[in-house]
Amino acid sequence: MSRRREAAALSTPRYARRMFLLLAACASVTGSHPPNILWVSMDTVGAEHMALYGGRAGLPALDALGGRVYEHAYTHYPETAVSHWTMFTGAWPELHGNVPRNGTSSYAGPTLGELLAPRGYARGAFIGGMTLRNKSSGLGRGFATYNEAFGGEQRSAHEVSTAAAAWIDEQSGPWFAFVHYFDAHYPYTPRDLRTYDPGYTGRFDGTDGTLRPHRDRGVPMAPRDLQHVESLYDTEIAELDEPLRELFGRVDRQDIVVVTSDHGESFGHGYLFNHRGSLHEEVLHVPLVVRAPGIEAGRDKRLTGLTDILPTVLGLLSIPVPEGVGGRDLRGPSQAALAAITDPFVTPSLFSIRDERARATWPLDPAGEPTYYDLLADPGELAPVAPIAELSAAREQYLAAVGGLAHLVRDASALKDVREDVAEQLELLGYAVPAAKQDSPRHPPPPPGGTPAPR
Ligand SMILES: [Zn+2]
Repeated sequence: MSRRREAAALSTPRYARRMFLLLAACASVTGSHPPNILWVSMDTVGAEHMALYGGRAGLPALDALGGRVYEHAYTHYPETAVSHWTMFTGAWPELHGNVPRNGTSSYAGPTLGELLAPRGYARGAFIGGMTLRNKSSGLGRGFATYNEAFGGEQRSAHEVSTAAAAWIDEQSGPWFAFVHYFDAHYPYTPRDLRTYDPGYTGRFDGTDGTLRPHRDRGVPMAPRDLQHVESLYDTEIAELDEPLRELFGRVDRQDIVVVTSDHGESFGHGYLFNHRGSLHEEVLHVPLVVRAPGIEAGRDKRLTGLTDILPTVLGLLSIPVPEGVGGRDLRGPSQAALAAITDPFVTPSLFSIRDERARATWPLDPAGEPTYYDLLADPGELAPVAPIAELSAAREQYLAAVGGLAHLVRDASALKDVREDVAEQLELLGYAVPAAKQDSPRHPPPPPGGTPAPR
């Protein structure tokens, strides 16, 4: 029986911990193998709801993983497809573009799967929700297996892990498995409705039928009912523990494990049960845990973004980081400020940038003045403060670098025949431009380092 089939046989929760120790011991005796990569995205899981981040939802399997917990990790775009494109390209959403509208990204830069393919990695994606179907997201680029065979809008994390585990057990060489759980996404219908709020007697059960009138910026909800709905969401997060445990039983200490989320969920600011239309902390703050040789276990308080994961994984594998990557290897200096945008096609669309102290948010169209929040004094972002010079400078730098691209991408996609000046700019950013324009004379592009990276 191979080492991995032994792991499959022992993958029940009872034996998971014992197996970690066993496999770690085996690895130290038999020598190294190319690191496998297990990358789990728990869709719509806000960090602050997890016990690992001081919240309620416990995930003991993740606690026991022994990874490095990045306490201040952020998404750059609170929507599923685009956020996952950011994960697997390391590029800012302003660069890789308008994925949901076009069914695929026209970004020409490589994905992690494409970078791993020539290095002998098997690449499998196991999808839990319809927003990552290849037909609508194009995320299948670089994966040899894109497992999305389910009816309706989603399947359970248990089913996803079962499919992923079966695929992992078939591999004889190095593998990269992307596992996508959709359970925490709206509506909030956990198996156990009473886990965190057994005394509730109201009518809200987390289904779309009861929540729909209150969703987005709809009818306000009574605080007690909102409290219960949030408890259902927390329960959905906690119920991811067993599916995670099943996967963690298939990696050892030489492998690379990433657990994160594409965005959080809003339960405040008059915006309920969604994420696409807000840039508050509860929507942008995501979990990020990485376990890999060369990354010390513990807690890391530095600012990190989803753009940072790809260059980190590439660094661990000694693969050069391609052009267009906006993040940094987490083993080096961190980014000083992180930007986020909402869908530039939807009104009102928003920009935001934050550093370790504060956040500034402003509307994209029409262009408006930023509103500043002191996140240390006011983590709930309830009381705007006067402009903060350091963050204002970071904002200007961001706008000069990539901030205008949201306009550019939106305007270009609306044109059947892309103007040459627009095509030039898009091409510089890694976009594939219409073939008819390929023969047009172009000015030579500036050097890649000529544009300051957002901080
Ligand atoms: Zn999502």
